[in-house]
Amino acid sequence: MRATYEVFVSKDDFKFNAAHFIAYPGFREKLHGHNYRVSVRVEGEVGSDGYVVDFDEIKTAARRLCSEMNERVIVPEQSDCIDISKDDGQIRLVCEDGSRFSIPEQDCVLLPVQHSSAEDLAGYLCQRLVESLDAVRSRRLLAIEVGVAEAPSQEARCRLQLDED
Ligand code: ZN
Repeated sequence: MRATYEVFVSKDDFKFNAAHFIAYPGFREKLHGHNYRVSVRVEGEVGSDGYVVDFDEIKTAARRLCSEMNERVIVPEQSDCIDISKDDGQIRLVCEDGSRFSIPEQDCVLLPVQHSSAEDLAGYLCQRLVESLDAVRSRRLLAIEVGVAEAPSQEARCRLQLDED
């Protein structure tokens, strides 16, 4: 028999409220917002200190990421149907249907994703966690998973395997 361990952290303050709209060729949602909630799952081996990973390290990293997104308009930089440009401190979005938005840069968060879906947000946050957690390098972690809920019981998750490369 082999035991596997994981830690799961979902604190009340792992949250951000943000505005977005989904757009793909032929479709655009209206601009709207969500009170997003984030959770983190880390699978790994238990170290000599008895931890897979210190909860505090996850809490610090997750809170920092949430604060970067909080009270922003999420702009998917890799969109295939939104033309995005910066001009004099404004982010300008021109959509396929002719809709135009001009938003102060400090009110936006530009993300290297194609869509601002919960799936793509989970993928982005998971990648950022892998980059920022010291434990990824100092401990024997096997996988990190991030959940992003747009609403209660409506959540997307992305899991990155760490032991394959
Ligand atoms: Zn939405």
